[in-house]
Amino acid sequence: MTRRSPTSELLIRAADDPAVMARFWSHVRRLAGTACWIWTGAISGRGHGRFWVRDDRVVIAHRLAWAATYPGQPVPRLLSHDCDNPTCVNPAHLRSGTDATNRAEYQARAGTPGSPLNDTRGARARAEALRAAARQGQDLNSAIAAGLSALDRDQPGLW
Ligand SMILES: [Zn+2]
Repeated sequence: MTRRSPTSELLIRAADDPAVMARFWSHVRRLAGTACWIWTGAISGRGHGRFWVRDDRVVIAHRLAWAATYPGQPVPRLLSHDCDNPTCVNPAHLRSGTDATNRAEYQARAGTPGSPLNDTRGARARAEALRAAARQGQDLNSAIAAGLSALDRDQPGLW
């Protein structure tokens, strides 16, 4: 049996609480033009969503989306985004990973033209720009394009 971490237990309990999850999903926007589910709440320095499950406990938003999708299951310590969009909480875009696989995937994809990982604003500022667009119900394309270099702008986006 997999040993459960305290954070994993916290996520499992939060995912099972309808009031907490209603509050959680109120921060998520699904918009035309992207399969990503954009987090519109607080954002970490790495561009991840942050969500207070209680007054004294904050969690990474996409980890709670995972916990809600797989009730009662231990939440992997590291979840990778197939979409390379750290603010995305669409469980279909998340995969269990390790530090090694995460690093390898980052190195492989960061050089890809048009990749979100090449955003000239950095992960946090990019997430904030997407959040602003999502809060206003705007198409994300212009918010995404604003962070592309002149070289990347000519390439099709990955998502
Ligand atoms: Zn996504």
